[in-house]
Amino acid sequence: MTNKTWITGFSRIGENRELKKALELFWKGKSSKEELESVAKELRKKHWQEQKMRGVEYISSNDFSFYDHMLDTAVMLNAIPSRFQKIKDSTTLYFSMARGTKDAQAMEMTKWFNTNYHYIVPELSPSISFKLNADKIIKEYNEAFELGIETKINLIGPLTFLSLCKTENGEDPFTYLDSVLCVYKELLAKMAKLQANTVLQFEEPIFVRNPSSILISKIASTYQSLCEVSPKNKIAVVTYFEHATEAVKELSKTDVWGIGLDFVYGSYNMSALSEIRNKKLIVGLVDGRNVWANDYEESLDLLEKISAEIPKENMIVSTAASLLHCPYSLKGEPHKDLYQWFSFGVEKIVEVVFLSELFFSENRSEKNEERLNKNKQIFIEKRRSRFITDDNVQKRMGSFITKERPMDFNARYKIQREKFNLPLLPTTTIGSFPQTAELRQLRRDYKNNTISKHDYETQIKAYIDECVALQEEIGLDVLVHGEPERNDMVEYFGELMQGFLFTQKGWVQSYGSRCVKPPIIFGDVSRPYPMTVPWISYAQSKTSKKMKGMLTGPVTIINWSFARNDISKAEVAKQIAMALSDEIVDLQKAGISIIQVDEAAFKEGYPLRKEKVQEYENWAVESFKMAVSVAAPETQIHTHMCYSDFNDIIHTIESMDADVITIETARSGNKLLEIFKKTHYEHEIGPGVYDIHSPRIPSVEEFETQIKMRLEVLSKDKMWVNPDCGLKTRSWDEVKSALKNMVQAADNVRRSLK
Ligand code: GLN
Ligand code: ZN
Repeated sequence: MTNKTWITGFSRIGENRELKKALELFWKGKSSKEELESVAKELRKKHWQEQKMRGVEYISSNDFSFYDHMLDTAVMLNAIPSRFQKIKDSTTLYFSMARGTKDAQAMEMTKWFNTNYHYIVPELSPSISFKLNADKIIKEYNEAFELGIETKINLIGPLTFLSLCKTENGEDPFTYLDSVLCVYKELLAKMAKLQANTVLQFEEPIFVRNPSSILISKIASTYQSLCEVSPKNKIAVVTYFEHATEAVKELSKTDVWGIGLDFVYGSYNMSALSEIRNKKLIVGLVDGRNVWANDYEESLDLLEKISAEIPKENMIVSTAASLLHCPYSLKGEPHKDLYQWFSFGVEKIVEVVFLSELFFSENRSEKNEERLNKNKQIFIEKRRSRFITDDNVQKRMGSFITKERPMDFNARYKIQREKFNLPLLPTTTIGSFPQTAELRQLRRDYKNNTISKHDYETQIKAYIDECVALQEEIGLDVLVHGEPERNDMVEYFGELMQGFLFTQKGWVQSYGSRCVKPPIIFGDVSRPYPMTVPWISYAQSKTSKKMKGMLTGPVTIINWSFARNDISKAEVAKQIAMALSDEIVDLQKAGISIIQVDEAAFKEGYPLRKEKVQEYENWAVESFKMAVSVAAPETQIHTHMCYSDFNDIIHTIESMDADVITIETARSGNKLLEIFKKTHYEHEIGPGVYDIHSPRIPSVEEFETQIKMRLEVLSKDKMWVNPDCGLKTRSWDEVKSALKNMVQAADNVRRSLK
């Protein structure tokens, strides 16, 4: 039996972020379209060869993108929003849609399911005339063909595409289904003419997100109609990130050639196997979005179990998602002893091929047996490793339980009011102040040892001095130190805690040319020394006003890292909570009585399946409470979240029992705030009144209108006035003017209330 191997998709940014660099040069006008294209062509070639030379059978084309695959799909369908329709040059048009122009706002971007990748949200309106633009697809297919590789073609399926679209007048995106399907059919007809037996990977991750009955009702008809275009096309519908059992039932009624399921994050897919007859099953079992080595024995067990229901000749071994979501390769990473536990993109290709070889071969070669044993050994050693297990952390875990804050909110509220004596509508900011190029250089110099600790600290203190003086001058009520020592709200804490690891080149695309290098949580987490106390107490010593301590919460740290998979996220969160609670104890000892624990990623961490929400909420809330329950009643705990829609999670937010929550509402206004009123939310709220994503400076009047509007929904005794989020991306000039106006407006409204 031949080995059957499938890679859902591969990195596009390149081993050394070549695409990022090429794009940024091009955008700056420092290179030509041809130069950009030639970098892209080289990257595609290299990425195909990485797979070919390792023996992958189903390699993708069209997994490359200059910006984003949803944007590519919009272009393929000619779904160009009217504000861009006059742009003639196709490259200019493409990047204008992604990044905006002087007169046309960029298309919106949002997170791709529960990953940290952002896609461009397509916009549909009656002004669009759908027609096929297959140039990119055919070009890339031919490019690979010339290299001797017959690729499968990756496409975003029509149902996922439409489900994620915005429509101009709020109409149901499915009203466009027929028009969109016509274009897909034209593409299939074209492919059938071009090459017989082309495999088309239709990605339909929307099927895993509790599909509505309307969506389910469209699956069979949509795919059957696509199958009927030509028997020469092999259509594989691929899902990932969760189980897709409802869709499997529907797809099994059609003539699709294959179905791709994720068995890493969607183990419930096992229950759908009996539905699948006479189709290929693309078995996603190498985690596409984490960094851990595959446990071969476990995977082989799973393959065996599946083969009890699906004939072996119909099974294909695959990654469970595109390798877009994990770093490129381990090559060039230090810490060789630790890195045997890891597997990045290239190593995951090797895993897929090896698993397939083992599974399909009648008898195992000695060499393969040896590899299998080595893998087994690695996992045994890992479990015992002193790098991973910290006895002190383990011991403490047992007795560290969720406690409630002392006293209930109303009692704390009274005490805090008396103690802080803040005015009505107190003003504050979310934490960071402008991060200038000099500041970034300063941190880099310190990291590279080109300046001394003393010089570094002196300059950070100078920044804090300036920041404190400015806030006093403006008249803010609760001050912050400005976060000059932090490159990133997760990385900063990761670097100071045990159990975290930072890669050299572990870049992952976040959006367009932007890449992030998430820390890896590989072992038990602890905090050897205070992480923020010296900076915050220094800042407090410079003012008689209240200085707000600033921490990042467990959920956000986990969601923006690669978390270990040998213990549950709940346990990792608990360990981080222990470390944070130690920090809070120390902050209190140092006289800090207002402490903010940011949970920016709380909402985006929600599971894709409803049945898993409860479990997530349990550990997410518990870990927050574990961290903050050491706070005395007179210590005010703030939390901050970067969004505005709390409709589904209001009771969960309430149960976190923070004294104050600051949120993002400058763009959305009152509508989404109403839920707080409707549910009689009792705690204090700081609804954002300044959109920090925009360079625009609202006038005093505009701030007043915003504040008064909020008071229609929120109680004046429980409301704070603050920006939407941290100010680090803004300039000092913008921040000074905007905050001055904000404070003035708060003062005006305050006076009118007396
Ligand atoms: N305290 C952080 C800051 O102000 C919060 C950032 C965030 O919520 N993303 O930068
Ligand atoms: Zn925020």
